[in-house]
Parts: sequence; C-alpha cells; structure tokens
Amino acid sequence: MPVKFNINDFEPIYYSTTGYPEFWECVYRDSIEHFSKIWGKVGPLYFFLIKINGWEPNLNSQQKPFAESKFIRKSNSNLEKEYCRIVNRSEKNCVNREGGNHGMSWSLNPNTMVITMTMSPYQDPIQFVIGPIHEYMHAYQTVYGYSEKAVASNQMGQSLWRGPSWWMEGSATFVSSLYCYQNPVLFEDITDRWDWEAYSRDLNTHLNNYKKSRKTIQQGATYDDWNLLENENLVHEIIYSGGSIACVFLIQQCRSLQKFMEIFPLIPEIGWGEAFKKSFGMPVEAFYMKFQKFVANAKVSKETPSEKESWCGFLKER
Ligand SMILES: [Zn+2]
Repeated sequence: MPVKFNINDFEPIYYSTTGYPEFWECVYRDSIEHFSKIWGKVGPLYFFLIKINGWEPNLNSQQKPFAESKFIRKSNSNLEKEYCRIVNRSEKNCVNREGGNHGMSWSLNPNTMVITMTMSPYQDPIQFVIGPIHEYMHAYQTVYGYSEKAVASNQMGQSLWRGPSWWMEGSATFVSSLYCYQNPVLFEDITDRWDWEAYSRDLNTHLNNYKKSRKTIQQGATYDDWNLLENENLVHEIIYSGGSIACVFLIQQCRSLQKFMEIFPLIPEIGWGEAFKKSFGMPVEAFYMKFQKFVANAKVSKETPSEKESWCGFLKER
C-alpha cells in the first residue's frame, strides 16, 4: 500500500457551519497560513470549523471582518456528509460534534488528514491562534511519520516511526506556543496577548503539573501507556505537560526552532529513534536520564515570569 501524503504545497480546504463568525475563520486560517509558509504546506488536509448550538457570543470580542474568509459553508448535517466523502467512510456520526474539541485524524485509503474544531471562539480566543498550529503539527508529524517501510513492517501506531506519545503531544504543544510567542503579529487582531508573561506562566504550569505527577515521560510512550494514564487521569500531566517540558530541554540542546524542526524530514528515512539521535546529539535513553536531572533542577515560577537564567528563560529572547 503506497503512502502518499503531500509534503509540499498542498492548499488546505476549509469548511465551516453556515453562520460561523467570519472574523474567527480569518484568525484561524491566518495562523495556519503564517506557520505553513515557513514550514511547508502538508496535505491533503481539510479543516472543519463546526458551530455548536449554545455558543454565547461575547460582544466585547472583535468582530471586524478584515477579509473574506472564503470558507465553504454548509449546514452541520451536510458538513458531515462531506466529511464522510473525504475520508471515504459511510458511517453516520463520523464527525465528533461534541463541543469544546479540536483534533486531527487521518485515513490511509485515501490518504487524507482532517482537522475538526468545535471550540467556541468566545470562550477561548487564544485557541484560534495557537490551537490551529498545534493540530497542524499533528498533520506535519503524520506526513513525516509514515513511510512505506513502516507500513510494510506493520509498525504503524507503534512508537517506532512516529515517535512516543509524549513526543507527539509535547512537540505539538511546545512548537505551537513557542512559534506564537515568536510571532506576536498573529495576535494583532485580537485582544489576547501571548507575551513573555503569558508564555512563561504556561511553561511553568506545565512544569508544575509534571513535577507533581511523580511519573516520567517514559511512562507516556505507547498507546497502552496512554490508556493506563487515562485511568489515573494523568494524560495531560505526563504526555502534554511532560512532553512540552522535554521539548524545552531538547531545544536547549539544538538551540533553535529551525534546528528542532529538522528532525521531521529525517523520520521517514531512518525512523524516530535514529532521527532523534541525529537531531539532538544523544540516544533517547541518555536523553531520559539527562531530562530527569533537568526537571529536578528546574524551579517552578508561576507568580513572576521566569528570569533569563532560569530553566526556560533562554526562550524569552524572541
Ligand atoms: Zn494534540
């Protein structure tokens, strides 16, 4: 089965529910366009911004439409039909219409990636800037995570090729929030800011979550790990928070986002473990040891933004 994802120049296609606020469609799409102009347009990729009953519009949040969004608008039931056609599935309810979700899923026959968003822009506007890049990172991981070798040896879904769970969610969370911090222009049209104060608070919250969990990211590697952690209500603490702190440590080794991102094109060729070693200069096992020390020495600073000398302070320099 050939795996044909496009790693260059696929124009994503955007759908939304009839009556969706155009301002937020533009904010969302601009964020994707900004990021993908630099790191590449992967695909085939489809977006579904779904409006759920019961959103309460916040009149204080800006509504000036600054461009035509050019989303394809349909009723929710027609969006669902369109979705099933794209992923070649016939079941009813294949779209998750529950509110408050944002996620990427993929299919292999045909090779397609779909991102669905049911969060309300009035509840969490920042999710319309950082969130799209987080999900786009999953699309990125997917196109660089599958190779014919991986499919042929039936290693899909295993951590061998795409990387462990903490890496999948950690790198998506870390790259999206760092990128947004480095590009304040993304927040130009909304009132929320992602300055050092906000970003540092976010990083320190992750550090605090992870420290308090008393587990390690090694316990958040496989699909089974994910399920076990779910039973203990620790998925967020280990896989998301621990994973993003791990990426802070890793970018400290390779020194720039540019270098950090260079791991992805290596993965289809040599697999995640070897690509990791090449990118960050140490085998995964050695990293786990060093990372434990890094966490033990890192001091949580939630009230005041972390200083330059602190565990994450080097990120302050935009
Ligand atoms: Zn994610």
